[in-house]
Amino acid sequence: MTASELPTSATSTVDVIVEDAERCSTCRHPAADHDTLSARYCAATMSGGLTRGCICK
Ligand SMILES: [Zn+2]
Ligand SMILES: [Zn+2]
Repeated sequence: MTASELPTSATSTVDVIVEDAERCSTCRHPAADHDTLSARYCAATMSGGLTRGCICK
């Protein structure tokens, strides 16, 4: 009886993906990078359909 070589189970490397809810929907920066002012700035940018840069960094 030969030593059975078990097929190595596929090791799925799951990348830690930051969920969309944790990112600003305007500038795609982490929501945690936003202070009150930049959060309002981004909200105004999105609602106004503007393509200005963000101030959260
Ligand atoms: Zn930003
Ligand atoms: Zn933002």
